[in-house]
Amino acid sequence: MAIYEKVCELCSHLTVDLHGGFEFKCLRCGLCCTTGPNVVLTVFDVIRMSKYLNIHWLGFLYDYVKPIIADVIPFLSLKSRGDSCIFINEGDGIIECSIYPARPLRCRLYPLEVISPSVNSLHLDLKCPGVGKGERIKVPIKLVKHFFWELKEHYSMLLRKILEEGRTPLEGLTSVLEELWSKREEEATWTSLEYINSLGAT
Ligand code: SF4
Ligand code: SF4
Repeated sequence: MAIYEKVCELCSHLTVDLHGGFEFKCLRCGLCCTTGPNVVLTVFDVIRMSKYLNIHWLGFLYDYVKPIIADVIPFLSLKSRGDSCIFINEGDGIIECSIYPARPLRCRLYPLEVISPSVNSLHLDLKCPGVGKGERIKVPIKLVKHFFWELKEHYSMLLRKILEEGRTPLEGLTSVLEELWSKREEEATWTSLEYINSLGAT
């Protein structure tokens, strides 16, 4: 057995082909948002979410994001309240995402998880109780391919600033965000929630 397969035995997921499908129905249990969701954002998520909340990206980072700079590339992890995502609203037995229309692409795809933006398969998280329930649905391939593009752009922009232009991780991150922020009102399709919605969701 390959080492990769041995490591995969430790994880609770299935592998799904990009052109494949799986049985799924969201049960609105909120488990994915209330058990330490650990959502890592791309710079594109940051701009869309800031725009949706009508605040500058810097204020958004300050209030909602925990930047982790432990090495060359910074990671933008959503803050949490206890074990729950900072955007979760819980009350009267209802659990809802307060930023749902502009939620991160990772959340749009869940319980599908991207392994790498260069492979033709995804992981399906078996911890989600909705997996295996309901109708068979197709992988939202347009959304997946767009997310692949955003991931590649995210890392290549940061790496260019940090490795080629010689900036610190924080300087590189702020420079990328400032450039994207200036494009938020342009015709860039990724800034439009209508466009993102048109790509589908899981
Ligand atoms: S995606 Fe899964 S874990 Fe999240 S609310 Fe739906 S059923 Fe629950
Ligand atoms: S952003 Fe919304 S969907 Fe994503 S983990 Fe937070 S509450 Fe859940």
